[in-house]
Amino acid sequence: MKSLADIAAALQGYDPQALTVTQVGEFLAQLAQPLSANEAQDIALFDALGRVLAQDVISPIHVPPHNNSAMDGFALDGSQLSATQALHLRVVGTALAGKAWQGRVQTGECLKIMTGAILPEGLDTVAPLELCQVDTAPDATTVTVPAGVFQRGDNRRLQGEDLKQGHAALPAGAHLTPAALGLIASLGQPTVRVHRRLRVAYFSTGDEILSLGEAPREGAVYDSNRFTVFGLLTRMGCEVIDLGVVRDDPLLLEAAFAKAAAQADAIITSGGVSVGEADFTKAMMKKLGDVAFWKIAMRPGRPMAVGRLGNSVLFGLPGNPVAVMVTFLAFVRPALLRMMGSTAPTPPLLRAKSLEALRKKPGRTEYQRGTVSTAADGSLHVRTTGNQGSGVLSSMVQGNGLIVLHHTQGNVAVGDEVDVMVFEGVV
Ligand code: AMP
Ligand code: MG
Repeated sequence: MKSLADIAAALQGYDPQALTVTQVGEFLAQLAQPLSANEAQDIALFDALGRVLAQDVISPIHVPPHNNSAMDGFALDGSQLSATQALHLRVVGTALAGKAWQGRVQTGECLKIMTGAILPEGLDTVAPLELCQVDTAPDATTVTVPAGVFQRGDNRRLQGEDLKQGHAALPAGAHLTPAALGLIASLGQPTVRVHRRLRVAYFSTGDEILSLGEAPREGAVYDSNRFTVFGLLTRMGCEVIDLGVVRDDPLLLEAAFAKAAAQADAIITSGGVSVGEADFTKAMMKKLGDVAFWKIAMRPGRPMAVGRLGNSVLFGLPGNPVAVMVTFLAFVRPALLRMMGSTAPTPPLLRAKSLEALRKKPGRTEYQRGTVSTAADGSLHVRTTGNQGSGVLSSMVQGNGLIVLHHTQGNVAVGDEVDVMVFEGVV
């Protein structure tokens, strides 16, 4: 395990008082290490949605297991097809899905076949029912397959075309999405080996922060950060440990940090890390762990503390509700995904035309709350949600994404394209 000093020393131009968003990401990629696969668990497929695979899923079978028909129709040997002459074939039987048809089909013959039924040896093409003419005479049923419509191999599903036996159907580090669950089920596998859930403890700090249920009092605000953090973590599939609101009291803070570090892989606090803080949060972090206090060239969310407390990774987020969510999305989320063992690539940012001029100073990254919509011509437009104050949590509810104005970027003119990180499924 590298110390913070080791990580810092390896980072080009590391200055805790002036870090870029990119440098923070690089630092956290070193600090946040994946869970050991030794702690992996085998769980039932129905319990596995959202979990992260701890090892490759190797397909024990071909999927589909046999060449089969993709349509209801007539299976035939495609070498008989001609571009100019219709094909007249005698129907010698019917192959149903789920049963292998026993028999032989000779030249001049075909087999009526249902979707999913095994294609017998020698038959490689299916002419759909609705495109053939069927003549039923007392002694035989014949089919006319029109000329120039079909090619050899049409409407055939090949053995193993979805998944090949012995190949990785999914790699370790993949997230178990609904599609992934279905894919594993198609292998006949009832269980799957996943990383254990990441345990994340969180608490809010500050004497002015009221827990829900407490009577309002002058100068105090209700704790919203615990709820946004809870939601963000739960959506990521973390096991959450809620340690409440912790007063600005050294004993209470020490107890909360100790409790968190004893149980959790990661600890998230909010509040008490900015420069002018008169509270004990920073002092306690310093006392109990290996912690760095940063100023990041970003808005919102300039101050942040990171480090290690025991075996836990600490993220000391600023107090402002929007700053909490933005620093979570920009830094904590990618770091936690890494710890969860995820190797999923970061989803791409959308490009949308700004409907407004945006003031932006080069030299810091800004995250403005925006609403992306589809214009009549199909292109994407974005406008800000209005007041961008770091305490205006309603902007996070109204918007459907963050407009990311990058470090070197300057003012944005109406009609300029900007990057947007969409909230879908995350926020
Ligand atoms: P701080 O980073 O502690 O200076 O807090 C910055 C601002 O965020 C202050 O106005 C706090 O009242 C507010 N704040 C801090 N923690 C919370 C919280 N848990 N819920 C809502 N607002 C908070
Ligand atoms: Mg405070």
